[in-house]
Amino acid sequence: MPKAKKRGKTTVRGHYLRARPWVDKQLGEDSSIALFWRDGPEQSRQGMLWVLSCCADPKCSCKEMFAQVMTVPDSLASIRATEGKIETSFIPDPKELAGPAASRHASVEINVETGVVRGIEGKPVDHDVLEWIKDVVDPQVLKILRASMLVAKGLAAR
Ligand SMILES: [Zn+2]
Repeated sequence: MPKAKKRGKTTVRGHYLRARPWVDKQLGEDSSIALFWRDGPEQSRQGMLWVLSCCADPKCSCKEMFAQVMTVPDSLASIRATEGKIETSFIPDPKELAGPAASRHASVEINVETGVVRGIEGKPVDHDVLEWIKDVVDPQVLKILRASMLVAKGLAAR
């Protein structure tokens, strides 16, 4: 895969999100975390968590948003993201189909103009997760990511 360029300072803003597995996507332009949900086996929902960061240099014209992605079960209750740390809480569920231990990961960069998603060299990329990411990147998601990047660069109000 192509080697990602060395970047300047990246930023992850703090955010709290209450999981809502019955919706399809949870993301906002003021947020560094996003959740996507789809139907799983036996009436479950499968979740995919994105922790977003990007270059914070307002003079830099880079267009890539970085996403650390992991799958989450529908027993997820909430996520709190602070600089360099993700805290998750779960609803107890003895019948859970895919617990945190079964979580799969991918680290990708998403071009917010073209929608091209690619893995980051040296970082784990689960193929199925990568396909799922590509599935959910649509014009609406890209619009939100572009807005989020402007906020990160200090070029738009929160
Ligand atoms: Zn940049």
